[in-house]
Amino acid sequence: MSHVFPRHTKIIPPVAVKGEGIYIFDSNGNKYLDGSGGAAVSCLGHSDPDVIAAIKKQVDQLAFAHTGFLSSEPAESLADRLIAHAPEGIERVYFVSGGSEAVESALKLARQYMIETGQPQRTRFISRRQSYHGNTLGALGTGGNEWRREPFAPVMVSASHISPCYEYRLRRDDETQEDYGLRAANELEAELLRQGPENVIGFIAEPVVGATAGAVPAVPGYFKRIREICDQYGILLILDEVMCGMGRTGTLFACEQDGISPDMITIAKGLGAGYQPIGAMLCSGKIYKAIENGSGFFQHGHTYVGHPTACAAADAVVKKLTDGGLAARSAQMGEKLMTALTDAFGQHPQIGDIRGRGMFRGLEIVEDRETKAPFAPEKGIAAKLKKHAFANGLICYPMGGTIDGRQGDHVMLAPPFIITDDQIDELVAKLSKSIAEVI
Ligand code: PMP
Repeated sequence: MSHVFPRHTKIIPPVAVKGEGIYIFDSNGNKYLDGSGGAAVSCLGHSDPDVIAAIKKQVDQLAFAHTGFLSSEPAESLADRLIAHAPEGIERVYFVSGGSEAVESALKLARQYMIETGQPQRTRFISRRQSYHGNTLGALGTGGNEWRREPFAPVMVSASHISPCYEYRLRRDDETQEDYGLRAANELEAELLRQGPENVIGFIAEPVVGATAGAVPAVPGYFKRIREICDQYGILLILDEVMCGMGRTGTLFACEQDGISPDMITIAKGLGAGYQPIGAMLCSGKIYKAIENGSGFFQHGHTYVGHPTACAAADAVVKKLTDGGLAARSAQMGEKLMTALTDAFGQHPQIGDIRGRGMFRGLEIVEDRETKAPFAPEKGIAAKLKKHAFANGLICYPMGGTIDGRQGDHVMLAPPFIITDDQIDELVAKLSKSIAEVI
């Protein structure tokens, strides 16, 4: 009997024993193509020799040092590397152990910034419906995913929510992309005015929405207008790139493609690429200086902040993404993946939308392509697809979700950037077979 607390107590997973390139093997000898990089984590595949060597070297030299006393060479090097490639104005990096911690750090630093700049009445956050920003109480309270929030709502501080930027579902037929982007972004202004903008700390959103919607990028112009509104009312813009950052969408930071600089960015998953648990919160020089000139102390912290071995692994990862050209490869192979998906599913009567950027792609599954009507939730299409794909040797990320009151199913694909042309074909063939078995 296993003593591990599994994700679902009624679904005991097989035991993974080996990783090689884009494949994972279990103890029964089964081989799985990791078509979603777990949950958009394994951007370099499972056996990258450079990252493994960097970890070994660091463990031999110094596995851990507490940042209450000491910084470390890997943390310094990784911070330099990230800032060298970060959007304009972003100047400091705060390392944590994962995505939820990164978001918690951003929320707390944003609040502290307001206190230290003489605006203590600012206490609220705004995010978007259907969003997910992590599972710890602060991050969960900020997110807008009803199913995840519901049981914990009585014990958490809640944000208010505006509509997501979701072209497939929410753009009206008589609107251009630009008009829709403006309308969606202007909901932030309306919500600010409703709450009193002087009471709001910040707005948090994913540039390309991952787990809750299946790789949905904002339409062009949306984030430019969001940036304008944040500036006009003095609120902070926090971009959650935990899933879509680190080359996943074809550029190191996803927001590069929206042409804006946020005040804070959170990253995780692809940063450690699965080799070490690590996340980070990056902030602007303006925010850092407010703390430096004020209390001089960020009132936050975890034992494993700036963990040297985790930073050494991530430093090797980011080096490969940037100098090694793998973020660019994500853009290039992502186009090939999109073409292969369009060839396979472009005419499929139950695939309503194929979308995404770089190596971050999503399919939306509908009962009726004309009306976009989703399948009834009781059919459990996403759950069935996950099961069938797994049995067919494919790890992908299907989810059911509530889109402004309607239930939809989608499948998210986020394979390692090292995937080859033949492996893209293998992925799409396995997915086609699985979809045919389920729908
Ligand atoms: N933000 C986003 C956008 C995410 O996708 C996730 C994880 N799915 C998180 C935050 C939380 O990250 P973690 O699971 O590493 O705590």
